[in-house]
Amino acid sequence: MHQTNLIKPLLGANYPVIDYGKGIYLYDNEGKEYLDASSGAITANIGHGVKEIIDAMLEQAKRVSFVYRSQFTSDAAEKLAQKIAELTIGDLNWCFFVNSGSEATETAMKIAIQHWQEKGIHTKQKVLSRWMSYHGITLGALSMSGHTGRRARFIPLLEDFPVIHPPYCYRCPYNLEASNCGHVCAQELDTVIKRIGANQIAAFIAEPIIGASGGAITPPKGYYKVIKEICEKNDILFIADEVMTGFGRTGAMLACEHWDIEPDIVALGKGMGAGYAPIAAALVSERVMKPILAGSKIVMSGHTLSANPQSCAVALAVLEYLEKNEIIKEVDKKSVYLIEKLEKLQDNFPFIGDIRGKGLMIGLEFVKDREEKTPFPRELQLTQKLIQLAQNCGLLIYPAGAGIDGINGDSVLIAPPLTITIPEIDELIKRLQVTFQLFSNKYLSVREGME
Ligand code: PMP
Repeated sequence: MHQTNLIKPLLGANYPVIDYGKGIYLYDNEGKEYLDASSGAITANIGHGVKEIIDAMLEQAKRVSFVYRSQFTSDAAEKLAQKIAELTIGDLNWCFFVNSGSEATETAMKIAIQHWQEKGIHTKQKVLSRWMSYHGITLGALSMSGHTGRRARFIPLLEDFPVIHPPYCYRCPYNLEASNCGHVCAQELDTVIKRIGANQIAAFIAEPIIGASGGAITPPKGYYKVIKEICEKNDILFIADEVMTGFGRTGAMLACEHWDIEPDIVALGKGMGAGYAPIAAALVSERVMKPILAGSKIVMSGHTLSANPQSCAVALAVLEYLEKNEIIKEVDKKSVYLIEKLEKLQDNFPFIGDIRGKGLMIGLEFVKDREEKTPFPRELQLTQKLIQLAQNCGLLIYPAGAGIDGINGDSVLIAPPLTITIPEIDELIKRLQVTFQLFSNKYLSVREGME
């Protein structure tokens, strides 16, 4: 039986068959058009059907599609590694290619542990993270994730790594105001390190902006400076999970640039292949590699298809496309415009509690009462209902929050391809408005059952 036939009735979801994509739009086999305001899962960063990427794929395929990374390298892989090192902050000069974001964070974790081992410290095996974080679906990545929903089923198999509160300013865990909170949630890292012992901890991992299970939770100015200082003081590496935020999504090559911090290791994925090929990477700084290069000189990273020339050629073409068309530079302007329009919608739809994020990674959190910030009852599954309504209206948005995790308020991500134009943002807003109106009429006008 075909896979979709199996899961379709189980989910009760409408799974259209996509025929083709062009720019920010997807078209199904019945001719219905969808404006892709989630870039798939924040992946199709330059939109669909881009000729330059298709040409690069074909060119590489004509030369060679696969060589095994343990025996050979390729022009595409070497050029890509070089270019990534040039375009990223600090001395992230080492690039370990893998095929998914989960593999990238796992690789980051393993390299962090190995870094200390090569220095003769064998106790540093834990990686701290934050509640609401998502670092991938493999067991190591899930061990580092604070995503209760995705962890639940596998708890006996997972490491019980400690987690701290995220900088969720809209619902501050300490009930403080972001303007003068003293970054108490960042200071929590120091407390946990003291409790467990720095000699047990290899690294702290964080998504610069929490995406999949938080809806663009964005820390206040100064937060990451505090985090970085605590890590440095305690000899703990800082891993930035930029799988969602990297490759221009927030208006910078890496989102860490916004907070002026240099991570020790970075996980990249999603936008790297922009959906044209599966490719991801762990970028590692010189200082982290130093003891490894002086020691065993071997990194236990890589899968059969890692660094395959086909995927590398795609990622290289994506980078060249971003550069040539100055796409990252334009993100900020588009972001301001999009947020302005979303704020106008907020005036009309009181259930929009919070608008947050950076660049073209904007989160909306929905509430029953804006003043009180009361979340909707989880069992209503409003995120899922909204996503389905939007899809019916020809708009794709990304569920982030109660819809998938079950612990937080309902939230979604609006994250269209970075190539979206201003008139296309207007069209996005138009479809969102229609969706919100239907949503209000259908689910929110009848207050009974919601109390
Ligand atoms: N890290 C982050 C921040 C992510 O958002 C995701 C995917 N949503 C992953 C890691 C895992 O990536 P993948 O699905 O490619 O394994």
